[in-house]
Amino acid sequence: MIKSPDECPDWQLAIINEPRQYNAAMTPDDRRLGMGSRITRRDFLNGVAMGVGGAMASRWLPDLDVLLAQESPYPPALTGLRGSHAGSFETLHALREGAAFWKSAAAPAETGEEYDLVVVGAGISGLAAAYFYRKARPDARILVLDNHDDFGGHAKRNEFSHNGRTYIGYGGTQSIDSPQPYSAVAKGLITELGIDVASYGKVLDGALYKSLGLRPGTFFDKESFGADRLVVGDVRDEAFRGAAPFTDAVKRDLARLVTEKPDPMPGLSSADKKARLARISYKDFVVTHLKLDPGVLWPYQTRTHGLFGVGVDAVPAQDAFALGLPGFDGMGLDEGPGPGQNYDSMHSEAASNYYFHFPDGNASVARLLVRRLVPDAIPGQTTEELVTSRADYGKLDASGAPVRIRLSSPVLRVRHIGPQGGDQHVEVTYAQSATSGPQDLKIVKARGVVLACWHTVIPGICPDLPAAQKTAMAYAIKVPLVYTNVFIRNWTAFQKLGVQRVSTPGMWHTSFNLDMPVSIGTYKHSANPAEPIVLHLTKSACKPGLSTRAQHRAGRQELLATPFAIIERSIRDQLGRALTGGGFDPARDVLGITVNRWPHGYAYQYNSLEDEFWINGGEQPCTVARKPFGRIAIANSDAAAYAYTDAAIDHGYRAAQELLGG
Ligand SMILES: Cc1cc2nc3c(=O)[nH]c(=O)nc-3n(C[C@H](O)[C@H](O)[C@H](O)COP(=O)(O)OP(=O)(O)OC[C@H]3O[C@@H](n4cnc5c(N)ncnc54)[C@H](O)[C@@H]3O)c2cc1C
Repeated sequence: MIKSPDECPDWQLAIINEPRQYNAAMTPDDRRLGMGSRITRRDFLNGVAMGVGGAMASRWLPDLDVLLAQESPYPPALTGLRGSHAGSFETLHALREGAAFWKSAAAPAETGEEYDLVVVGAGISGLAAAYFYRKARPDARILVLDNHDDFGGHAKRNEFSHNGRTYIGYGGTQSIDSPQPYSAVAKGLITELGIDVASYGKVLDGALYKSLGLRPGTFFDKESFGADRLVVGDVRDEAFRGAAPFTDAVKRDLARLVTEKPDPMPGLSSADKKARLARISYKDFVVTHLKLDPGVLWPYQTRTHGLFGVGVDAVPAQDAFALGLPGFDGMGLDEGPGPGQNYDSMHSEAASNYYFHFPDGNASVARLLVRRLVPDAIPGQTTEELVTSRADYGKLDASGAPVRIRLSSPVLRVRHIGPQGGDQHVEVTYAQSATSGPQDLKIVKARGVVLACWHTVIPGICPDLPAAQKTAMAYAIKVPLVYTNVFIRNWTAFQKLGVQRVSTPGMWHTSFNLDMPVSIGTYKHSANPAEPIVLHLTKSACKPGLSTRAQHRAGRQELLATPFAIIERSIRDQLGRALTGGGFDPARDVLGITVNRWPHGYAYQYNSLEDEFWINGGEQPCTVARKPFGRIAIANSDAAAYAYTDAAIDHGYRAAQELLGG
């Protein structure tokens, strides 16, 4: 297993630096995994690399992923490294050089374009802001700018094709799903867009995997345990613990953890116990308070990744209790929320009943918004038709259209022009192409601007903001995540092994599972193990042992530094080893890989281990960060410090109302 770019074999670096040589430099093991097999992206890399030759040294020369994006006009079908793809962030990162960046920049050119509203960020928050603004003012002219080559922000659609059939996966925002009930505004939008959340039971084939006898499993890797072993079942089952390659001491303590009911805080009330649990991590609770072998945490370490982006070393014990992790049964804790409990561990019946998953996740929400804003760009009328409709990216930014969506256009500067009052407007400077750096800058003007982009970016593009607001913005450090879709020839190996979802705590991706079996309209999920399917793999980039925020920073660096070739090899290695007993052959069975890398993923949510104001009721940075500034309003899920689509919608709405004077 390759764990860092430093361990990147020469041939993998060759893919990046000199593609023609990589075949010759591969080891037999690389070939066995299929690293040399012909997949669309690699063929393209070879062809293009020969064309660009020695010009690779240029700072602003697009890398091969970018050239690939330009070659294909249809972003959802692009494979390789997606999410924050090459070409989307370099210019914005260079902006951190401040004055030096602007010194090296060409003078921005006036486009002469003037809008009622410019929205920065074409994620769900920005698209919702545009929608609400236009709902109030149907004659409004709006421009939406985004640095990516696709709209939707985290809500990203991935497509694969095989034998004339299209298979859809989600590359980010997975579902309409929130631990808190959707607000009237957010629910209202979902209804207006034509999504019938209550119909989810009809589109989900909830019995499919169960009917085939598929269960969860855990892969114990040889790097951690000396030999590879896949064990089916749950750690609470005695049979599972018996089959797992834990030491006897860990097996004994695991049994104690899941069966015994000690109270390590006797004599305290439930409230006092929770207050203490809020200030220690689950790891501390298990090791220091329950006095169990640290080895018992191995199967639990990554359980919290999907919600918090960090493992149980950095998740408060109170939240672990609320999420159902073991060890609390003897403590007599009441079920209600405790002080400083994270939203993610709160339970609301109303919220859990409001759930819907499209095959492309909430990319469908983004696509429905785009269809309302730019009707020509996405054909069809109904939500069912939307699932298979192919967006026409050429129509998103049509000259003369009342709403235009301009992609690959990072916004670099937003400032008020003119004295406060009727004539004041906002000037927005952006790079015409995400790959041009500061050499092709354009200016548009607007009566108002919604910044629906990440809060950590805003101080850099809007330096006139008050200092306190910029400091509050900087607090919104994003949670780095990877959602990878691997398109495979069939899933007979899963059937043979009896698994649907495999936890792999020792590997680069820490879990993989068969796609959610959802059929909508003419789109049918893969119902037969002999058919191709999309596999979903996840990773939270974190560094156990550091503080949460330091883990997020380190994870972001790791994601930006890890080339696709390393990730591809680790995926092939991981699937090949975990599924070998079912006959899975990565060289034969992997048909496509799309790695959605999100160095700036979830909005940062406050936690009781590190954010004192979150326990004591002090002022939250997000309330300072989201204050309107003249004709500039602030949206994005960061504005709520809440990593969910309802927050993105609610704050898109609020920002639009602030500009409308509502
Ligand atoms: C992997 C993953 C899974 C998730 N799953 C769920 C889920 O199941 N359910 C759920 O409710 N939420 C989920 N979320 C949370 C998700 O962030 C929100 O639901 C929502 O999609 C956020 O929308 P947004 O518009 O606020 O932000 P984003 O989607 O981040 O959109 C902001 C956009 O602004 C762009 N931008 C930034 N700076 C600039 C600039 N200077 N110029 C131009 N554009 C800029 C960004 O590139 C981005 O495209 C998930 C997030 C991730 C990363």
